[in-house]
Amino acid sequence: MGSLLLQRQNYRAVGKGGQRTLLHVPTSSMFELDKAADSVLALLESKESVDERQLRQHFDGVFSPGEVCDSLIDFLSLGIVADKRKDYSIAPREIKRTPINTLILTLTTGCNLGCSYCYREDLSTPRDAAVMEEETAKLAIDLLLKESAAHERVNVVFFGGEPLTRFASICTLVEYTKAQAAGKPVDFTLTTNASLLTDEMIAFFQEHRFGISVSMDGDELSHDRYRITIAGKGTYQQVSSKVKRLLAGCTARPVGARVTLGSGNTDVARIYRHLHDELGFAEVGFAPVTAGSDAKFALNAAEMRATLEALKALGREYTAAAKRGFRHGFSNMQQLMQDLYSGTRKTLPCGAGVGLLAVGTEGQLALCHRFTGTDFPGFGNVNTGIAREELSHFLTEAQQLHPVCQGCSARSICAGGCYHEAYITQGNAQSPTFSHCDFIREWLDFGIECYGEIMRANPGFFTKQISHGGKNETSETH
Ligand code: SF4
Ligand code: SF4
Repeated sequence: MGSLLLQRQNYRAVGKGGQRTLLHVPTSSMFELDKAADSVLALLESKESVDERQLRQHFDGVFSPGEVCDSLIDFLSLGIVADKRKDYSIAPREIKRTPINTLILTLTTGCNLGCSYCYREDLSTPRDAAVMEEETAKLAIDLLLKESAAHERVNVVFFGGEPLTRFASICTLVEYTKAQAAGKPVDFTLTTNASLLTDEMIAFFQEHRFGISVSMDGDELSHDRYRITIAGKGTYQQVSSKVKRLLAGCTARPVGARVTLGSGNTDVARIYRHLHDELGFAEVGFAPVTAGSDAKFALNAAEMRATLEALKALGREYTAAAKRGFRHGFSNMQQLMQDLYSGTRKTLPCGAGVGLLAVGTEGQLALCHRFTGTDFPGFGNVNTGIAREELSHFLTEAQQLHPVCQGCSARSICAGGCYHEAYITQGNAQSPTFSHCDFIREWLDFGIECYGEIMRANPGFFTKQISHGGKNETSETH
């Protein structure tokens, strides 16, 4: 046997006390390392390459030759070691056809609130808003049903601005979609600031089993920092009283809160406690304020660090609950466990353009909701259909990972990051945004470690709470 070289770009191994969990990056498979494999890998990590003499020197009398050999054979077959540096980059496949199953309808560019950090370039007051005519929306739904023939169910997302300013249209479009779908299951989803909710709306959403995500930033202090009316007044009191009614009346599917963390609003634990434990949201997800917002709202380096530590602290709660068989409501962690368990292996950063498209108010087709209203070229419209050639070209090119991403252990989860963020910050939707890489890799490492802990303590958690979509019946409060 000649020297074997470690191929760091193909794995991440994380854990403590001799118990390490390994993510095999090219296949997104997870492995528990036994003692021999862990020691062989540790030796490789300290030297970068090993030969037979070194292996004997280290392991004679510690592990049997068979144990060492088996570990090396496994590592060789996974490409974690090789006799020379190898190129493991995946050649882009031409993506010719993308059967979409999700359409995001931008019903209006108008919003009744004036949140300071809103990313929409074309946002206006409801009175001055561009709105999607119902005829345009119906053409969009026809297009979705035609394009999604290969899918068992479809998803219609009502988006804005604030979609509840167009509630009458939502009612019409739900009836229309159900009639046109002719028995094919349709999921309806709504993202809302909740400030305009009425009991009539809540009953309608319950009847049609809407999946609802409410944009809410925590208790009064947190929420009112940025989520204000056009006149600049805090909206917590109004929103929280509506949310209580929503949570009492909409029980068909879990209602989630989506928190935007902006400068000065990063107390993840307090926000979670309030939204989940006190108000009763089934799931709470966090995202830092998006690119394109004014820099004064963005998290600075110290706040990013503190946020990551706070997310990990909440992730540890999730892990402790999972080990006892309960599902915690921290949705970022749930998503990470889902990705690791299902072996998500992304060659593209997200489903934009593949499974989903967004429709602008004039019927133009955009990669996702964030691109409607920007000057980024669209991909057809509801009258002429999807511009297949342009979309295929974009997606095929997007698969060509940047050389830095090709050597990154988080590539199968990140694949270069959000197109919209790249476009806003760099003017090129396919250029990775490297400013978040350390954050992403540390979060992934944390997830691998927690995954290993849960798997060792309660492997049934993944089959019960992850693979079945993990309905929240056994959610635990703290
Ligand atoms: S953008 Fe950064 S974290 Fe994402 S795959 Fe590329 S190098 Fe890795
Ligand atoms: S491009 Fe960015 S904002 Fe759009 S769906 Fe993908 S990750 Fe989300």
